[in-house]
Amino acid sequence: MLTKAPKGTKDVLPEQSVKWQYIEKTFRDICAGYGMKEIRTPVFEHTELFQRGVGDTTDIVQKEMYTFEDHAGRSISLKPEGTAGVVRSYIENKLYADTKPAKFCYLTPCFRYERPQAGRLREFHQLGVEIFGAESMMADAEVVSLAMDFFETLGVGELELRINSIGCPQCRSEYRQALQDFLRKSYNELCDTCKDRFERNPMRILDCKNPDCKKITEGAPRMIDYLCEECSGAFKELKKNLGAMGIEYTVDPGIVRGLDYYTKTAFEIVTNTIGAQGTVCGGGRYDHLVEELGGPATPGIGFGLGIERLLIVMEATGAFLPKEPETDLFIAFVGGEARLYAQGLARKLRKQGFKVMADVAERNMKGQFKYADRVNARFTAVIGEEEIAENRLTLKNMKTSEQKQISAEELIKELKVSE
Ligand code: ATP
Ligand code: MG
Repeated sequence: MLTKAPKGTKDVLPEQSVKWQYIEKTFRDICAGYGMKEIRTPVFEHTELFQRGVGDTTDIVQKEMYTFEDHAGRSISLKPEGTAGVVRSYIENKLYADTKPAKFCYLTPCFRYERPQAGRLREFHQLGVEIFGAESMMADAEVVSLAMDFFETLGVGELELRINSIGCPQCRSEYRQALQDFLRKSYNELCDTCKDRFERNPMRILDCKNPDCKKITEGAPRMIDYLCEECSGAFKELKKNLGAMGIEYTVDPGIVRGLDYYTKTAFEIVTNTIGAQGTVCGGGRYDHLVEELGGPATPGIGFGLGIERLLIVMEATGAFLPKEPETDLFIAFVGGEARLYAQGLARKLRKQGFKVMADVAERNMKGQFKYADRVNARFTAVIGEEEIAENRLTLKNMKTSEQKQISAEELIKELKVSE
């Protein structure tokens, strides 16, 4: 137990973490291009926030949350997703009083108690964005295009953008009726969770992963056929905007968010390169969420995407991923005086921006050279008492094995030239 990480969690080892850094930096750069500002919210919140903000008829809240009581008896939950915390912070800090529309991006760990499998973990990481205060479909198109730019910059191919509209509370009430009428005859065959959803939120039944429920919902009425004039106009507008940006999409009436405060646009970015867990990114509009959580009526739109799943796609499709950087220079030393000299020199060179290592275990020359190989050094400098006295060192190119005697001043030039 002691030396085993909890089920569904994964260490990010150094070889992997350079890939994470690259993905995170790419994301931040793309977000900056859209004027998104990074927001960081706590890893845990009051449970009630997610019950309201994600919805207590969702799988996330009903089955997947890590909820516990703290020492003062408050119910606390680990973040299962990124949006609710951002909305809470937006309201609490009165950010709605600032510039509108407000644009945020975030990078956060998320926690869901699910059955671990490829692309499905209990601790995973999301990148996401939110725009508050824009009703126009221009905002929806920007959010979609940001996600597409991100994937394009990373060289992730074979992705499909699927869009849908899930209407608004007005048009949804007629649809809800039609859906219930359709499902009523199979009510007894629904899973227990969906039986409960039948009255509370029948649209969620369309998103159930249970094979029996999936079968029952085949041929069910589609929200997209029930859109009111405003929602159907908005959907047309979204398609026009995406067209203007040169973004291809398919309409998928099966995409559901299914909560009263999620409205209009819903979208997913999917791949068929990695099997079952093919949804890399999911997003949509939530025009009533800010109000639902106690803020002033403010429309919102955003997406969340999973880093672990993205990495699986990138590895499966052969997209570029960086390797650990090489060490520019390894300084090998013989004797106590040389050791001190080596440490001083290493610090000077690091200040110049070079990656410099020495053997902090103070092994013999053979051990030091072995270590230099292991840390992938481009050059090794050898320093002994004689070298210090004569202000020179022996520089070895580790790839060509070529050696020369140079001064410490020439060293910088040498490292720069061969970069
Ligand atoms: P799924 O249908 O695969 O369960 P979801 O609808 O629960 O996905 P969202 O809540 O929309 O997913 O989360 C956005 C993104 O977060 C997903 O597209 C996926 O990349 C990632 N994600 C969600 N759950 C997990 C998980 N358990 N492990 C790893 N990544 C996840
Ligand atoms: Mg899920």
